[in-house]
Amino acid sequence: MRIARFSIDGNVAFGAVEGDPAGPDGPGGTGGTEGLVLDIIKGVPFADFELSGTKVPLDKVRLLPPVLPSKVVAIGRNYAEHAAELDHEVPAAPWAFFKPSTSVIGPGDPIVYPSFSQEVHHEAELAVVIGRLCREVPRERVKDVVLGYTCANDVTARDAQRTEKQWARAKGFDSSCPLGPWIETGLDLAAASDLAITATVNGELRQAGRTGQMINSIEDLIVNITEAMTLLPGDVVLTGTPAGVGPLLPGDEVAVTIEGIGTLTNKVISRG
Ligand code: MG
Repeated sequence: MRIARFSIDGNVAFGAVEGDPAGPDGPGGTGGTEGLVLDIIKGVPFADFELSGTKVPLDKVRLLPPVLPSKVVAIGRNYAEHAAELDHEVPAAPWAFFKPSTSVIGPGDPIVYPSFSQEVHHEAELAVVIGRLCREVPRERVKDVVLGYTCANDVTARDAQRTEKQWARAKGFDSSCPLGPWIETGLDLAAASDLAITATVNGELRQAGRTGQMINSIEDLIVNITEAMTLLPGDVVLTGTPAGVGPLLPGDEVAVTIEGIGTLTNKVISRG
């Protein structure tokens, strides 16, 4: 099931995305939403829920970030070719950092160029959405705490990342964490660990990898993170980016597509 979060007439709701349009706008295509409808969910997707049967065309609503995480835990240098392109060593163990809840934006929301940077980069990433409160998760239970997967862009002020020892500003500025377009709950861990992932800028292919190239697997990451901290329903884990990161400029349109999930598109704009 694909679960979207959206606003309609000033109300916020979750809905199950239905429909499977053929052609370039279908799943795995260019990310269009024509022909898709939302069956409004009674309640929230972090517990047992029912579909209301009340349906609205997806084109008639505004999609929001599919979750409002209390925190986004992101992993650096989890693809060897990406570490190499930035002249970095691959860390011996997962290397986690935070993106604040205020960095999260939804599909179609603008990435606002921060005033302190002249070099903002895209990083296409698979995002794991946590479904239940958990800590010290054993490897065999990881599948039970994952609600599903969505697309993420770990937008980074690369110049600030180089000069500032902690990455709170470089990777935590407002609008630096686009998520969406929805949560795909139908992928098991094996399937999620072998998906094509791409980033395009103005339609030009910039990043193309597979989630199977991760150095630390999804299980490795959840075990490692929950050794240290409790994850809450709706928290998000970003799993690292494949090679091909590069600059974004105001006016650009960046799209992250993950096979079996969908396409997350955002425009870059100047401040003010
Ligand atoms: Mg990243």
